[in-house]
Amino acid sequence: MNEGGVKKSSIAVIGAGIQGVCISLSLIKKGHKVTMFDRGEPGNSASYGNAGHFSPYASVPVNRPDILVDVPSMLLSSNGPLALKWNYVPKMLPWFLKFIKNCTKKNMLHTAKYMHQILDLALPAYDDLFQDVDITGLIENKGIIYFWTDKDLKSRELEINIRKQLGVKQQLLTPKEIHDLEPHLNQIYHGGVLYPQARHTRNPKKILLKLFDLFLDRGGKFKKQNVETILFSSDDQPTVKTNQDAYKFDKAVIACGAFSKKLTDQVNEKIPLDTERGYHVHFKNHDHLLSRPVIFLNRGFGITPMEQGLRVVGTVEFGGLNNPLSKKRIQNLINNAKYLFPKLGKHEDEWLGFRPTLPDFLPVIGPSKNHKNLFYSFGHHHLGWTLGAISGKIISKMISGEKTNLDLEPYYSSRFS
Ligand SMILES: Cc1cc2nc3c(=O)[nH]c(=O)nc-3n(C[C@H](O)[C@H](O)[C@H](O)COP(=O)(O)OP(=O)(O)OC[C@H]3O[C@@H](n4cnc5c(N)ncnc54)[C@H](O)[C@@H]3O)c2cc1C
Repeated sequence: MNEGGVKKSSIAVIGAGIQGVCISLSLIKKGHKVTMFDRGEPGNSASYGNAGHFSPYASVPVNRPDILVDVPSMLLSSNGPLALKWNYVPKMLPWFLKFIKNCTKKNMLHTAKYMHQILDLALPAYDDLFQDVDITGLIENKGIIYFWTDKDLKSRELEINIRKQLGVKQQLLTPKEIHDLEPHLNQIYHGGVLYPQARHTRNPKKILLKLFDLFLDRGGKFKKQNVETILFSSDDQPTVKTNQDAYKFDKAVIACGAFSKKLTDQVNEKIPLDTERGYHVHFKNHDHLLSRPVIFLNRGFGITPMEQGLRVVGTVEFGGLNNPLSKKRIQNLINNAKYLFPKLGKHEDEWLGFRPTLPDFLPVIGPSKNHKNLFYSFGHHHLGWTLGAISGKIISKMISGEKTNLDLEPYYSSRFS
């Protein structure tokens, strides 16, 4: 027991992406004994290759009434954001049907409300964690710019209006203002918006490893093992079975990003998790061309200045976890980058990553439906980097039996039963 009378538990956290690392650190700070498992080194998955945005403004979900009309043209456009691996379409059909059901105005506003609830707390939660690590040179507070041309774009007003209602700070930009902020960008835009409270990291993996090292310094354990299954005793205590051994704990947390479904299926939960595949390439030594991340809304991709150079990030490709990287998607990013910076030369580092996504675009954060000592934190889709620290805080409070003043039920997996 600690001074507050909270029972200290031994806890397994499965997955060492940003979710698993933040959860483990928050738990160990509360005095629990924590063992983190990952089949690879920490931070080599989606949490490595993302765009590095901390986006507390981004509460308007993808499931919106106007999106379905746009899907065919997005799929047909070679410079658009959307692609399919046709061999995966039959497997993903149930997910698509659930997604379509969620594209009503009511469901969109429900998702926006509950994304906003946690996004609003995302940066303060990171600030708490960063008190104990040296992040000098790794985080920039210069906001993020979205811009657009007037061609083939109808829906930016919807986002701006919902964000206004939610009290999100945003500053509309004229072409001249965009040019003043980012003078090297090709001036193809007709307007834009700056989200001044957003931040970005110049190297997501370095931040993750700093938090991971702090976890080890505080006495946390790490096992590089693949978790094959979680078994439960008659009193519902979990045993984590890996490719090497079996370990008994008081509680366990599944934080395996897009790979979580394999484990949740085994504990008889039908959680419709799938993946939106995303890509990046780097243009080395060109990061001086941008001061902050930009997103070109018409083509649905972004560029972030990072230590590795300009990181060009984007694409939503539906194709599951096993299909190979698509060269066409890489070419799409290269073409789009050169549209904004015509003088860019050769790219490097072709990378494919897996956003973990539920069809209602809310994450699963909370207890398992079937096992009282099992917890989940996955499915944060395009915002899992932003939501690492706050998810860690919420899960560590739940496990410690502490109350929050948040309405957490909308994130529970039981919403799918
Ligand atoms: C192209 C792209 C750009 C993005 N940009 C942004 C952005 O700018 N801002 C933002 O907020 N979010 C962004 N995201 C989303 C964000 O990166 C993810 O939501 C987030 O990284 C997910 O973190 P995670 O810890 O849940 O999963 P992951 O980072 O995928 O980590 C899961 C870990 O679990 C491990 N694992 C899986 N199964 C097992 C098992 N059975 N046993 C042991 N270990 C296992 C894996 O090895 C992995 O290390 C982006 C994503 C992509 C793909």
